[in-house]
Amino acid sequence: MAYAYDDQNIFAKILRGEIPNNTVLETEHTLAFRDIAPKAPDHVLVIPKGPYVCFDHFCNDASAEEIVDFARAAGQVCKMLGCEPGHGGEGFRAITNAGEDGVQEVPHYHLHILAGRPMGPMLL
Ligand code: 5GP
Repeated sequence: MAYAYDDQNIFAKILRGEIPNNTVLETEHTLAFRDIAPKAPDHVLVIPKGPYVCFDHFCNDASAEEIVDFARAAGQVCKMLGCEPGHGGEGFRAITNAGEDGVQEVPHYHLHILAGRPMGPMLL
């Protein structure tokens, strides 16, 4: 079944410039901005500019160019936050929620990068 993308979701509005955001990095295919309700001292959301609903949608349907651009942008955000373990940083957590069971709130694929405090064990 095809993924149904809702172009009225909040991140689509951010991408269209209808809602302001605190941009950290913008590339050809990717936007990274600060979460409006941060769960850590640094909490950045990395999103593709293309209309992908969730992680698996992005991985299955995005072009190789979009995927590489996204991955490089996420790596660049870690560098900018100074949280790269082994490179002077103390580490970070990168997570994505998908669908109902994953408790995904915004139906536009996004990677959370959380840093600036110990995250504690993963809740499973
Ligand atoms: P999810 O639960 O879908 O994985 O995460 C959605 C995230 O988007 C939440 O952490 C929430 O705080 C953030 N968020 C929701 N609305 C906005 C907004 O208008 N601007 C920004 N920057 N973040 C938002």
